[in-house]
Amino acid sequence: MQASCGGMELRPALLAWYRRNARDLPWRGTRDPYAILVSEVLLQQTRVEQARGYYARFLAAFPDLNALAQASEEDVLRVWAGAGYYRRARNLHRLAQAVAKTGLPAAPAELEELPGIGPYTAAAVASIAFGKPVAAVDGNVRRVLARLFTVDVPSARWLQETAERLLDRAGPGVWNQALMELGSLVCTPKRPACATCPVARFCQGKGAAERYPLPRARRRTAVSATALVLKGAGGYVLERRDGRVLGGLWGFPLAEGKGAREHLLSRYGLASARPLGTVEHAFTHKKLTIRVYAAPWSGPDEDPNARPLSVLDGKILALAERGPGP
Ligand code: SF4
Repeated sequence: MQASCGGMELRPALLAWYRRNARDLPWRGTRDPYAILVSEVLLQQTRVEQARGYYARFLAAFPDLNALAQASEEDVLRVWAGAGYYRRARNLHRLAQAVAKTGLPAAPAELEELPGIGPYTAAAVASIAFGKPVAAVDGNVRRVLARLFTVDVPSARWLQETAERLLDRAGPGVWNQALMELGSLVCTPKRPACATCPVARFCQGKGAAERYPLPRARRRTAVSATALVLKGAGGYVLERRDGRVLGGLWGFPLAEGKGAREHLLSRYGLASARPLGTVEHAFTHKKLTIRVYAAPWSGPDEDPNARPLSVLDGKILALAERGPGP
């Protein structure tokens, strides 16, 4: 369907609303491309209210690309700890090392070459920080456009073309943020506020908004795992994790699947361990149910406060410290 709702008329209505209603978010007061990049990377998977604190903490620790490039990966992960999806922090670190001398490029295509930058983040940074006329399509924009034009299953191509057609080329950064803000505050996934929506008169989906777009199928595999809490004189046995999701972080010895407990016991030369409780943790694609066992330990250990722990390991630590102790 064409953008027949009239980009020309829709634009002033949305922009006037945005000027009056935009939330006062810390990254909206800066033109620093690095700070804008950090905010966008955080917002990829962290909600706005939580992102505020992590944003302030990250910029206080690493105020510019140089500071981030020179930090150790472990320090970067420690500052990021709690925000989750640690691959974002590792990618930001690698990105800083790649462009610390030259600064961030302004062109979306060049931004997309950098670690962890997909089409959305490239478009957001290029438009907000550098004023480049490119439409940024995130989940909010996807929902708003699908409803404006009553499209059940919007394709990536349709979304990008429609967003480009509506884009305000004179102020692309503000426009992109206005459309996303509408999705966050008014055209929400559930119970959108069509009655007070500034673009309702251009919207084909009002009144039946929740029908659009159709929900995306999301499958999470249930996985059982076992973790071992070995408490020593100065802390716990912690291992440095590998892999795409938690690589570089530290955590309790953990194994998935059948025989995981026996495998962990034999790795540490133990005959037995007693059950401490169960911890659940969901990643994007799997839900872990972790049976936690504890045993006394007299070998080398780690202070958990001195190592970057994932949220999952934070839950195991909380259980370990709550329990009676081995
Ligand atoms: S009228 Fe309703 S469905 Fe349409 S954009 Fe506004 S809030 Fe979304």
